[in-house]
Amino acid sequence: MHTPRCNHAVGNVRAYAQAAVARGFTEIGMSDHSPMPDGFDAAWRMDASELPDYLQEVETIRDEMESDVIIRVGLEADFHPGTEAAVQSMIDAYTWDYVIGSVHFIGDWGFDNPDEIHRWDNMDVEDAYVAYFDLVARSAATCMFDIIGHPDLIKKFGQRAPVRSQRVDQAESNMLDAVKEAGMVLEISSAGLRKPVQEIYPHERMVEKAVKRRISFAFGSDAHAPEEVGHGMEACLDMLSRYGVQDIASFEKRQCTMKPIRALA
Ligand code: ZN
Ligand code: FE
Repeated sequence: MHTPRCNHAVGNVRAYAQAAVARGFTEIGMSDHSPMPDGFDAAWRMDASELPDYLQEVETIRDEMESDVIIRVGLEADFHPGTEAAVQSMIDAYTWDYVIGSVHFIGDWGFDNPDEIHRWDNMDVEDAYVAYFDLVARSAATCMFDIIGHPDLIKKFGQRAPVRSQRVDQAESNMLDAVKEAGMVLEISSAGLRKPVQEIYPHERMVEKAVKRRISFAFGSDAHAPEEVGHGMEACLDMLSRYGVQDIASFEKRQCTMKPIRALA
């Protein structure tokens, strides 16, 4: 979940935590968009100068609301080739509970940015999906992150690769193999339900393929406002249940513990 430091979210950490308590959650995580080097995507994330303040706010509310809800301190970092060293040193500088690794860019194309949607017009959809999954696979191979954020974000605006595309299916499988190899988990995110695609990230077939590889999931509502806390969780957990998943990942100091879904219901 996010804070206004990323310039596209509202509500302070207390408001997110209070919303979580009101909805009966026992554990939540804050993971605002991390600073990135060299002005990369600066408009959509906190500045490096805001990181200490972010940590202080999350830690303060975590301690204050300790008896009401467990608050995990995380980050959503970007995987973007060439930025790895700077991102790694940011990760190393603090004891995070979890770090999400997300791909929001293919080269210089912010494919999930509404301002860059026109660039789909010149894009082969199949190529875009393959390029996206290749980048996600590379992000896993770095072993820098704990969770793959919104694992098929490329579908956000509804452009669809051909259902029977062998190339896309193969790229997706390679990505899942890399995730398994790295010992990471996939986020199952309700954010897609609030986007033009109106679908959970990832799509059902990827859930099926991940379960076959015994890859686990962490739930994220990707809330950018307190009222979005936990949005769509039932639908996400239902989808997992249909594939026999009974546990969901929780992170503390970057150690993953599986917790029964039943306990959340
Ligand atoms: Zn965001
Ligand atoms: Fe994201």
